[in-house]
Amino acid sequence: MERYFALAVKQILENCEANVPRDHDRVYKDECLYSFDSPDFQGGLFICLKTFAGFGYDHVERHHRKTRCSVFLHMLRYKIEVETKMTQVGDAPTKRKVPRLAIGVDGGFDPDVENKKYKTIEEHSIVILPSFRSFQFRTSGLPQKVIDSIKGIIEAKSANYLDEIQSMSNTWDGKVRQKTGYSDIEQLNNGKIITPSGLKCEYDDCDEVNNLWLNLTDGSIFCGQKFFDRSWGYGHATLHYEETKYPLAVKLGTITKDGKGDVYSYPENDMVENPNLVKHLSHFGINISALEKTEKSKAELASNQKVGEWATLQESGSDLKPIFGPGYTGIHNLGNSCYMSCIIQVLFSIPDFTNKYYLGSKDIFEMCQTNPTENFDVQMAKVAHGLCSGKYSTPPTEVVEGKNYWHRGIRPITFKSLIGKGHPEAL
Ligand SMILES: [Zn+2]
Ligand SMILES: [Zn+2]
Repeated sequence: MERYFALAVKQILENCEANVPRDHDRVYKDECLYSFDSPDFQGGLFICLKTFAGFGYDHVERHHRKTRCSVFLHMLRYKIEVETKMTQVGDAPTKRKVPRLAIGVDGGFDPDVENKKYKTIEEHSIVILPSFRSFQFRTSGLPQKVIDSIKGIIEAKSANYLDEIQSMSNTWDGKVRQKTGYSDIEQLNNGKIITPSGLKCEYDDCDEVNNLWLNLTDGSIFCGQKFFDRSWGYGHATLHYEETKYPLAVKLGTITKDGKGDVYSYPENDMVENPNLVKHLSHFGINISALEKTEKSKAELASNQKVGEWATLQESGSDLKPIFGPGYTGIHNLGNSCYMSCIIQVLFSIPDFTNKYYLGSKDIFEMCQTNPTENFDVQMAKVAHGLCSGKYSTPPTEVVEGKNYWHRGIRPITFKSLIGKGHPEAL
């Protein structure tokens, strides 16, 4: 029996179409095309060796049925705790009093989180449909094309990554940003450290908390101009430049995990690319890689999509009571995407929209004959499912007020690039 299966599997692998991703190929290994499932979420992600399209468990069968593709790379990512030794005897951390809480579940809170270290494990296996028969990926004893294809997929830059890079370089006005001539500015050693809470414009009597710009020379924070994207402000940042001639400022809330952000150069009168942004931010205590690391080590608080804690905090600005469940799914800020998120949230609170796109999502997916990433109905249905199903907003078993909970939420990157296509003015 086992031998029969082995032969059958061998035959399928030998006959399947397996491609190796090239530079311009889009490899959907971060997220399902139809849902917000990802390698680190529940059933993991299945990636087609022919088209590099990725699917959650609920959607891979349809792809198989419609295309006859039957060989998939299954990616599963999870974290395991690594033993850490205590630094000093007698210096044991005092146990904080925390009531019984959900440990190790989505949205749960782990009181010992600071004392633990986690390591990410990524498992790769080959799954054959329709049987879902699976076996571990290995680099020998398999047809060479399958090995090459899978290795290529694992090494490729993901489609989401490319989308984000592109949207970053397009955010301001559709122009690719030029490198600033001021990337070597001397930063003042004034001891200023920025903490990501309670930020407001530092101008006397200005209470602006949105549209804040951090001057990279002196770490001052002032509000920006009133811009065409309707962000509000009194222009105190510009005033500050006129007084000091400190050339660069970065807009808070736009800083991304890979150290990019909206940097404005006053003398160059344009948005610029600042290759030293990470260094400039760390001068004032904003450590992008540390933010990322903290998030990573706080296993339950982390996702593989490390949206800057910073960005999230900027959006809320105050302590909110966490709510979970269908209809209460958060939308991560993708950088200048708060207007989009706001509209999405309004649309999917309207019954006609949820009926068509959430209840009707199966039919929409089934009927899609084109590339789902470029199909408006599919992407609307994907967002609708993400928001309305509650799948990405699972509550912890107990909620303690005043505690921070990690909320998985959704990152509608594909949706954003689709609706923003050809609209450079849409931030
Ligand atoms: Zn396929
Ligand atoms: Zn101001």
